[in-house]
Amino acid sequence: MAQAKKALARNNSRRPARTPRASVKTYSNYIGGQWVPSESGEVFENVNPADTDDVIGRFPLSTSDDVNAAVNAAQGAFDGWRNTPAPRRAEILFRLGEILIRNKEKYTADMTREMGKVLTEAGGDVQEAIDCTYYTAGEGRRLHGFTTPAEMPDKFAMCVRQPVGLCGLITPWNFPMAIPSWKMIPALVCGNTLVIKPAEDTPLSTYNLVRACEEAGIPPGVVNMVTGYGENAGAAVTNHPALRLISFTGSTEVGRIVASACAERNAICSLEMGGKNVIMVMDDADVDLAIEGALWGAFGTSGQRCTASSRIVVHKKVYKQFVTKLVENTKALRVGNGADPKTDVGPVINNDAVEKIMGYIRIGRDEDGAKLATGGKRLTRNDYANGHFIEPTVFIDAAADMRISQEEIFGPVTTVIPTNSLEDAVQIANGVRYGLSAAIYTQNVNRAFKAMNDMYTGIFYVNASTIGAEVHLPFGGTKATGNGHREAGTQVLDIFSEWKSIYVDFSGKLQRAQIDQVESPQ
Ligand code: NAD
Repeated sequence: MAQAKKALARNNSRRPARTPRASVKTYSNYIGGQWVPSESGEVFENVNPADTDDVIGRFPLSTSDDVNAAVNAAQGAFDGWRNTPAPRRAEILFRLGEILIRNKEKYTADMTREMGKVLTEAGGDVQEAIDCTYYTAGEGRRLHGFTTPAEMPDKFAMCVRQPVGLCGLITPWNFPMAIPSWKMIPALVCGNTLVIKPAEDTPLSTYNLVRACEEAGIPPGVVNMVTGYGENAGAAVTNHPALRLISFTGSTEVGRIVASACAERNAICSLEMGGKNVIMVMDDADVDLAIEGALWGAFGTSGQRCTASSRIVVHKKVYKQFVTKLVENTKALRVGNGADPKTDVGPVINNDAVEKIMGYIRIGRDEDGAKLATGGKRLTRNDYANGHFIEPTVFIDAAADMRISQEEIFGPVTTVIPTNSLEDAVQIANGVRYGLSAAIYTQNVNRAFKAMNDMYTGIFYVNASTIGAEVHLPFGGTKATGNGHREAGTQVLDIFSEWKSIYVDFSGKLQRAQIDQVESPQ
């Protein structure tokens, strides 16, 4: 009961009170192949950030009771799934890919409605789940291990991948189908069973993915979904002793909590966290191209991407030209409901996000002393009245050590910092606690490679923006962005499988390794 009150209080802090509609659908958790309500019967509402009167659905407000049931189901299904040959597991996943393709339009519309991003970006999110599914399912016929010579005669040595076991997956709201797929599909192809806890702001897109898994024929208990808030359902996943691996994507602050809990119980922990990404624009850059990249990187998904171009470091020789054009083009962006094809920039996710972003705009203007060149206001009139809309905002003449240049704002705000040289630009670019994505615009190949070599980030672009990863390359970052793992690519298999080294001695006698040899080999 105390928990339900807390949930209600949190709901109220996110949006104004309104009369719930009788027709709103109530969704369920997916546990052991059954669609079931939370054990408490409590629910929370999923609302449209462009129009908070639009209640999309009610989802189970789960607690540790529901997580325990989901983990039990995952435990019960584990032996069957890990012993299903990987190519057979992959066949089911290819069927999942077909279902995702068939329903792409509906999933896209659902995502824009619950998350706010414009339809073309939501379509890209669903497409990424499709691409991830096909690419990773292909690993079912590979999952390569290796053989290697043994030290001794008549002895064979090899190494194979084994599933980790039961996996807990915790995901954010900004890529509500792509990120769950980045975790679920490799977990499944490797033979693990799983419990996923999607972000409370976007449970519908993960529900769509899980429903498609059911339709594809993934056996009961292999995939389980429990919805709810981070501090109870998320924490119950993180702390469950039977979950061998926690794969988390979200903020650095919550990632640290997850990492500490995993360290306590010796669970494997894979973290994808925040970013403060940079575009460097050199004096020889194609400025118009750089402007396009900056607009796309800073304001795509309303700046709510971990790879968002939230800093732009510009050479003084092209600074004035760049800033004038950037501001002019930013003013021309149309803010609105992502479902309207004319919209360039949709709403931000919820009222907490509005307050956080507006707080940073105040800090930039009043405390940091950067120049607010355009934007800076919350939009509240007419079509904006029921949504979480903020003007695309550009700060200029900023210094590298200002808070707006250092901290992740996660909204439609970017900060332009002047520089004198490539060396200075790289120093500024590396001078943050995060290390996800960086980009350089230059026509000079030596500069491009120098920056590529010196930037301490997981992703680097030349003459392209900081956003737009492809699923067959590893994705992740350094420093406070990650803990050394990479999702996507074949590298993700190293998260969701463990190596087993196998020695077969067919000599028929005792042969001793790890000891000084006194006998000479024959
Ligand atoms: P968040 O950290 O608030 O939440 C992420 C998930 O963690 C949610 O499902 C939430 O319910 C859960 N959670 C919250 N508190 C928890 C707790 N105490 N224990 C367990 N789980 C808990 O992040 P968000 O607001 O959903 O997402 C935005 C953040 O995610 C940004 O910092 C962004 O940079 C980051 N992000 C990173 C990547 C990447 O790949 N590096 C990708 C997307 C988003």
